[in-house]
Amino acid sequence: MPNYYLKGKTALITGASKGIGFGIAKSLANEGANLLLIARTKKDLLKCSEKILLDNDVRVEILVGDVKNKNLPEKAYSIIKKKFNNCDILVNNAGGPELGSFLNHPEKTWLEAYFQNFYSTVNFTKKFAPDMKKKNWGRIINITSSLAKEPTPQMVLSASMRAGVSAFSKSISTELAPYGITVNTVCPGGVLTERLEKLVKISAKKEKIDFEKMLKKNVESIPIGRFASIEEFADVVTFLISERGKYLTGLSLMADGGLTKGIF
Ligand code: NAD
Repeated sequence: MPNYYLKGKTALITGASKGIGFGIAKSLANEGANLLLIARTKKDLLKCSEKILLDNDVRVEILVGDVKNKNLPEKAYSIIKKKFNNCDILVNNAGGPELGSFLNHPEKTWLEAYFQNFYSTVNFTKKFAPDMKKKNWGRIINITSSLAKEPTPQMVLSASMRAGVSAFSKSISTELAPYGITVNTVCPGGVLTERLEKLVKISAKKEKIDFEKMLKKNVESIPIGRFASIEEFADVVTFLISERGKYLTGLSLMADGGLTKGIF
């Protein structure tokens, strides 16, 4: 079992009730970090909190909210101050935006994608980076997508917002590096979560083939030959957050089993 020296640190994770977000929460709790979990459904958050507390001697708080809400970072900040005093680790994560051609998305859909997948990252980071600077230690992780590097027409909303997050991360990583704060974007290709299953079902329906066939077809494009498990993706993130990852900043790391083909 690796020791990543996170005992007593506090991590705030958005989109924490399912999939990748919950996987990261569990992994950080395994390393001793206290948690503030944020998602939209109280019932799901309570279940997650229970599961984590069953296996780990850490403190877990929850906050119900949508990251599109511009006041959410302020609410999270007051919980952090009251319950933990400080936030050491910020993981910006949320569900992905809709599929479809850019010609068909109305302005409302573009703006929703912007607030959910781009501006929420800026807003949470602005709220928590100043205290990290004062403590000379911090970790900011943004979960995006391999689409940031290799866009596709149907995923234009995701690709556009994710590339923006990579640029934002790189820009601020330079400003924050002298304060012991690293900022990295981790880009999944395929991680076996509920969202992935849903996307595969949509493509299967469109191509009129069954789910298993579609799944196999998707996996064939990944050189490693399979999707990532939630745990192995979360382990990459936990390493970046750990003391051992302290020299890594400004990355847009494709944790995608070799899916993306470009060298940069
Ligand atoms: P998921 O749908 O399984 O989980 C998303 C989590 O975020 C859930 O807890 C959900 O309740 C929460 N959430 C969604 N919208 C929110 C909002 N507006 N405010 C607060 N919480 C919100 O998704 P996942 O597969 O874990 O993916 C996480 C991120 O990684 C997504 O942005 C997704 O697009 C991206 N991604 C995932 C994959 C993959 O293979 N799973 C691949 C590429 C990119």
